[in-house]
Amino acid sequence: MDLEKLRFTSDQLLDVLALSENATAIYTGENTIIQAANDAMLRFWGKNRSVIGKPLREAVPELVNQPFLNILKRVWETAEIYTGKDELAEFFIDNEMKVSYYDFIYRPIFDANGNINSILHTATDVTDKVESNLRLQETEQKLQLAVDAANFGTWTIDTQTQTLIASDRLKVLFGFYPDEEITLTDVIEQINPEYRKSILESINKTMLEGGTSDLTYMVTGHYDGIKRWLRAVGSVSGNKGFTIFAGVMMDITERKLVEIEKQELTDSLGAVNEELTAANEELSAANEDIEESKKEMEKIFHMLEDSEVALRLAIEAADFGTWHINSVTREFITSVRLRELFGYRADEEITIEQALAQITEEYRSFVSQKLEKAIYGGGNYDVTYPVVGFHDNQMRWLRAIGNLKTDPSGQFSSFTGVVMDVSEFKKDEQRKNDFIGMVSHELKTPLTSIGAYVQLLQKTANSKGDNSGTLIMDKAINQVRKMNKMINGFLNVSRLESGKISVEKQPFDMAELLTEISADITPTITRHHIIFEPVEFTMVNADRDKIAQVIGNLISNAVKYSPAGSTINVACIQVGNEVKLSVTDHGIGIKPEDFEKVFQRYYRIESNMSGTVSGFGIGLYLCHEIIQRHGGKIWVDSEVGKGSVFSFMMQMWLN
Ligand code: ADP
Repeated sequence: MDLEKLRFTSDQLLDVLALSENATAIYTGENTIIQAANDAMLRFWGKNRSVIGKPLREAVPELVNQPFLNILKRVWETAEIYTGKDELAEFFIDNEMKVSYYDFIYRPIFDANGNINSILHTATDVTDKVESNLRLQETEQKLQLAVDAANFGTWTIDTQTQTLIASDRLKVLFGFYPDEEITLTDVIEQINPEYRKSILESINKTMLEGGTSDLTYMVTGHYDGIKRWLRAVGSVSGNKGFTIFAGVMMDITERKLVEIEKQELTDSLGAVNEELTAANEELSAANEDIEESKKEMEKIFHMLEDSEVALRLAIEAADFGTWHINSVTREFITSVRLRELFGYRADEEITIEQALAQITEEYRSFVSQKLEKAIYGGGNYDVTYPVVGFHDNQMRWLRAIGNLKTDPSGQFSSFTGVVMDVSEFKKDEQRKNDFIGMVSHELKTPLTSIGAYVQLLQKTANSKGDNSGTLIMDKAINQVRKMNKMINGFLNVSRLESGKISVEKQPFDMAELLTEISADITPTITRHHIIFEPVEFTMVNADRDKIAQVIGNLISNAVKYSPAGSTINVACIQVGNEVKLSVTDHGIGIKPEDFEKVFQRYYRIESNMSGTVSGFGIGLYLCHEIIQRHGGKIWVDSEVGKGSVFSFMMQMWLN
């Protein structure tokens, strides 16, 4: 066979090459003459068929500064194949330099003698692949930068073999050294037990089913023992045969601590809030209570107002005067009516002293003492006294009733009361007194005559030796004496009430007085043992006769209300600056509820005994009045059936 005939002509060769999809060209000689180039290669170059037959460096001048001409030269000289991969080439296409990447082969073609004949150039445009690879690289680089910058750890797990590839940072996060090899188990073991099981389950599930995972858990460093909060974000990728589970690992300890702190804060805030709510509830409950009590208060205020109105109406209706005295400032607030009662004009302000000045002299110091005692000592104040009006000079009997109230501030007390005109009542009393006085007086004269006659008769009987007559006359004289005493009592009361009784004070010795009384009385007391206790020299400034009258009264009561044969003691002792006189009997006694009443006028205790004992209930009243006018006090201590002790006390005369 003629080999020559089998050889392609250049044109034939070109026709064959044109069929190839791959860019192909054939060069010969050291100058790399383009023997053939198909359309695909011409497109790469951006040239047309006119370049065929020209040296490559002329046909494609931009190659001069690129490595390819030298490589071709070397292939021609060494006859060695050259394979280029992802190589960059620049061609001047459409008036601009265009960068492309090619996979290509320069393959020497030999003749029958084994000499190099030509070079076959095949090329594939891999620009797209290279560029996307570059982009990928770039992205990966950026990602790595981000991972590094964020100090993320990274991992890759082969889902089949569960082989772990961990970054240095990841190892450190789990407390390992960066240069040691670690397994997935090593890593899992560092996860705190409370999370371990669920994390492992979650990882296995993701590796089996694919998808992404985002897990947060606490680990304790393997060597360093440091507790860290880690967040692992990863996903499974790849195809069925080979899949990897890869991702990043970040240390979120600080954020987590802040979160925990925040949570704790929120929790405690919650607790505080709860407490606040509770407190609020309590407050509103308390408020309700306050509301309630406010309502109660309002009710009470209304009631108070009502009763104040009622009181005012009552005061007006009764024509009472009212007053207030401030215990500290002694400010005297009076009503118009009070001023009228004291004979002042409605618009005139008066002082306590001005009011006192209108009281008749006889009562003034008594009332003043009572008043001072009530203002500074408390207690009841109920006094009746005559006043002579300041402007009108009219005489009125006034009764004042007062009460001391401490101000809530505790700073002062306010002495408040009413004063009423009891002149009419007093006049009635006066008329009654006058009548009693008059009757007593009228009775006194005939009684004195009767007494004289009886005494005369007694003398006559005596001289006649008429014993029974003498005895009868004795009894008659006794009865006359009794009547006389009674009448004298009434006279005393009536004098007292009409203000005609006056206290005439003089200094005297109580011991001496008692000696006199003892001498007078002892002979008349025949059915009782009367014992006068020894008395010290005790000076008092008092009305001697009236004090004697009081003592006499007390002794005669003791006799009246105690059985024959019993003992009566009269004692007089000094107590501090005061003198105390007591009359003790062993008689019928008095119930406590009568202790004060027995000193009231005409008061007699209802009992079997008093029925049989004569009296009008004026003796103790007189005693009380007399002692009171001496600024003293009189009282009784008693026990029913055992006896009574009547005592009075008054100031000693200290000179
Ligand atoms: P009378 O004239 O009734 O004795 P008084 O004023 O002297 O009046 O006494 C008043 C009342 O006090 C008497 O009626 C009597 O009930 C009672 N009384 C007075 N003294 C005694 C006493 N020593 N023991 C018991 N009761 C007494």
